[in-house]
Amino acid sequence: MSATHTVRLCHLYPQLMNIYADRGNIAVFRQRLAWRDIGLEITEIGLGDVIEPVQHDLYYLGGGQDRDQNLVAKDLIANAATLQAAANAGAAQLYVCGGIQLAGHSYVTADGTELAGLGILDLTTEAGGSRLIGDLIIDATVEGMSQRVVGYENHVGRTHLGPNCEPLGQVVSGHGNDGESGHEGAILNHVIGTYLHGPLLPKNPWLADILLAWALEHRYKKEVALRPLDDLVEARAHDIASARASIKR
Ligand code: GLN
Repeated sequence: MSATHTVRLCHLYPQLMNIYADRGNIAVFRQRLAWRDIGLEITEIGLGDVIEPVQHDLYYLGGGQDRDQNLVAKDLIANAATLQAAANAGAAQLYVCGGIQLAGHSYVTADGTELAGLGILDLTTEAGGSRLIGDLIIDATVEGMSQRVVGYENHVGRTHLGPNCEPLGQVVSGHGNDGESGHEGAILNHVIGTYLHGPLLPKNPWLADILLAWALEHRYKKEVALRPLDDLVEARAHDIASARASIKR
């Protein structure tokens, strides 16, 4: 991989879906690629925009308020076939919080409105009676590799997985998908959904690199082994978040 290589990122609704600085995940993608001399091209999709088929290697949708999710959901459905085709072709996709809810089949909000989702992840969500808030630590498993992943959650939605996707991880501390199952997030092939804000990737570079490797493999159709980086600062941030969560509980 060199300067001639580029990842094409499609950032879905950055103006509306950017709660808890979820946009910071984009900065991580950019910087981890730059450190390896690989470029990043970003296409931002807003309301009314049509996603061009086949043109992106990595898709990202952050979290949002129910009100903004309502606006986005209607628009997103118009792009569902393109996003599903991209997932089938192995493009990487990351959906955070409000994002994972819209990547599933449906989200029933607190006022009883049912928002149709993309159906890319086999899951459904409905609002519960309380918000699930706080530090969240999980043991995530991706392609047979397990790592502790840390972040922060704040959601009213309770997410239930269907048989066609696995949880991203098991809750170590915090609530996760529904506060009961011990499941956190969802994964199906190269599509990951999670409730982890923070933003997620600065403290969890392992996950960032998995997504970037999938994106590069989608673009260049060959197996990619990314050069390891010095993640000392990231590891410290990870450990501090992990210690803080354990102290509180
Ligand atoms: N509105 C959704 C919920 O409360 C998602 C919130 C979020 O993205 N933090 O469940």
